[in-house]
Order: sequence, then C-alpha cells, then structure tokens
Amino acid sequence: MNIILFGAPGAGKGTQAERLVASRGLVQLSTGDMLRVAIAAGTELGLRAKDIMDRGELVSDDIIVGMIAARIDDDDCANGVILDGFPRTVAQANALDEMLASKGLTLDCVIEIKVDEAALFARIENRAAETGGARSDDNADTLRKRLAVYHENTAPLLPYYAEKRVLQTVDGMNSIDDVASQIDRILG
Ligand code: AMP
Repeated sequence: MNIILFGAPGAGKGTQAERLVASRGLVQLSTGDMLRVAIAAGTELGLRAKDIMDRGELVSDDIIVGMIAARIDDDDCANGVILDGFPRTVAQANALDEMLASKGLTLDCVIEIKVDEAALFARIENRAAETGGARSDDNADTLRKRLAVYHENTAPLLPYYAEKRVLQTVDGMNSIDDVASQIDRILG
C-alpha cells in the first residue's frame, strides 16, 4: 500500500506517518527528514539545502525527486511507503506517477490532514519548545513563508489528486488519536 500524507506544515503528517509505520509495517519516506540528515552529516546537499529550508522555500524538484527515486528502490519499501512531505509541487507529483508506473506500483490513497491555519502557529511554537528549537525553520516568520509556499505550490495538488479519485480528507483539528482513527477508517 502506497500512501501520501498531505497537509500544511504542522498539520501532523509526521506524527501520523510514525503511527502507520508501527501499525502497518509501512516505511516512512519524509523528504524533510532526509534533508535534515544530510544537513547533520554536513554533505554538500545538506549545505545547499539548509539556507533554502531556513528561508521556508522549496528545495529543487530534481534534488527531491532524485532522493525519493534512490530510496523507493530499497527492499524495505516493497511492502509499501508513506510519503510525508512529498510531493510538494505538480512536477514532483508527475515524477512520482512515472516512478510508480515504471515499477508497476500504484498510489492507493492521498490523505489530506486539514487544519485551521491559526492553529498551525501554535503547533509550530509548541514543537519548537518541545524539541528545544531543533528545527531552525520552526518559527513564526519562516512558517508564514512555508504557508505561502504551501498555498502557491503544494495546494494545487489537491485538485490533481481529487481528479484521480484518490483524495480523502480528515479533520486534523482533533486529538492525535482521533485523527489516527479517521485515517484507519479510510485505510480499512
Ligand atoms: P518538512 O520537514 O516536510 O516540513 O520540510 C522542511 C523543509 O524541507 C521544507 O520547508 C523545504 O524547504 C524542504 N523540503 C522538504 N520536502 C520537500 C519537497 N518535497 N520539495 C521541496 N522542498 C522540500
């Protein structure tokens, strides 16, 4: 089963993805996490990505698609993946379609976790406090930019997937457990 968890920054994609890893044996592919690993390792990619991420902008489609293409071929992904934070542009969605088709795989479901924008600021503030500011893009200024980028580049994927009849939406304003139950009902 291949799933996309979709939503604005702070919607809870990572939290729900981790749960699905534990409950369904799927592999979480988070492009944000992959980039943060590259930054921590001090690779050339990491050095280039850090400034872009700190500004709340998007890393180039080529780099991101290359990262996913390299990872999705690994044996542990054969049972299915949860894409978290990818795709974020129509070009990335097209590349994903091609990647899956070339492997004879399908996209089973895109789950949008819908959250009021005002709540996102409080959530990101909480995450910054809980993680001791581990993510340098978790602040109000960068979040404003990340939200603008989400609306401009990423939200157009909603009609893209609605047209393909794979889009489902859950109410992300409820508790983590409630959102998890809504997702479980969709996945069956
Ligand atoms: P995330 O952890 O998903 O919130 O991603 C953090 C940051 O990493 C984003 O604000 C982007 O700068 C970058 N990033 C993560 N995933 C992507 C993607 N699919 N396309 C472009 N940039 C990305």
